Amino acid sequence: MRSLVFHKPGCIALEERPVPTPGYSEVVIQVTLTTICGTDLHILKGEYAVKQGLILGHEAVGIIHEVGQGITDYKVGDRVLVGAITPCGQCGACLNGNRSQCGGPAGGWKLGNTIDGA
Ligand SMILES: [Zn+2]
Ligand SMILES: [Zn+2]
Repeated sequence: MRSLVFHKPGCIALEERPVPTPGYSEVVIQVTLTTICGTDLHILKGEYAVKQGLILGHEAVGIIHEVGQGITDYKVGDRVLVGAITPCGQCGACLNGNRSQCGGPAGGWKLGNTIDGA
């Protein structure tokens, strides 16, 4: 799959990467549309540190390509919108219904930050 990879501040590149395999409670999405967020520009400028080799991107829509174990509400072929924030379901924000504000240790901004993104 074609991926936008961060190498160092000021240096990103489109590269081929293998299609990942979903882990427990994960899905792999075939991205049909994505865009650059202002946050990605901060990463490119070195103003927000991410690890070298990380696939950037957290704004995407697509079609579910593969589902991992434990997924029951979605199936291959479903059209989905990717939420930039991964809710943990356990922190104060999540328990108050503000899942997009999750900042718990198991949630928050993960895609294109601490794990490969879109
Ligand atoms: Zn964003
Ligand atoms: Zn949370």
